[in-house]
Amino acid sequence: MKQDPKLDWVEKNMKPGEISGTGFLGHDERKLVDILLDDGQAVTALQLNHQILAARMEELSEEGRKGFGNPVLVDGFLLVTVEDSRGTIACPFRHMGMYPKENVTVVNRKTGESIFWTALNVHMIREHGFYEGKGSPFRVEPLDLIRVLEIAG
Ligand SMILES: [Zn+2]
Repeated sequence: MKQDPKLDWVEKNMKPGEISGTGFLGHDERKLVDILLDDGQAVTALQLNHQILAARMEELSEEGRKGFGNPVLVDGFLLVTVEDSRGTIACPFRHMGMYPKENVTVVNRKTGESIFWTALNVHMIREHGFYEGKGSPFRVEPLDLIRVLEIAG
């Protein structure tokens, strides 16, 4: 799909070495507009939306913070560990504000599967519908997220 010049600029911010050393796009060759569209469709196909997913991520992050780095069991099957790695990072969509470099790991004790995200992931999913490009170390695969957290549409 044709990409708005504003997104071209955002896409440039996402390259390695601009805001973060590894960047946000991994080895993804798609244009940013197509990454956003594809992930958006994957989520809406399950009768879900970015806000529902981000709200659940934030809720689990909040519960996990109570452990101060130790795992916290939430809803009887989700083991949440929140680590504050110190420092902040800007959003590549470049509006005001910095996001803490907080790492959240959730293990589903029923299946043994786990998923990982940062505070910036939660923000980018909620505000921009952006899960990062394929191969990015911080990509949150929407279908993995939905399955591991057992979010129902
Ligand atoms: Zn943003």
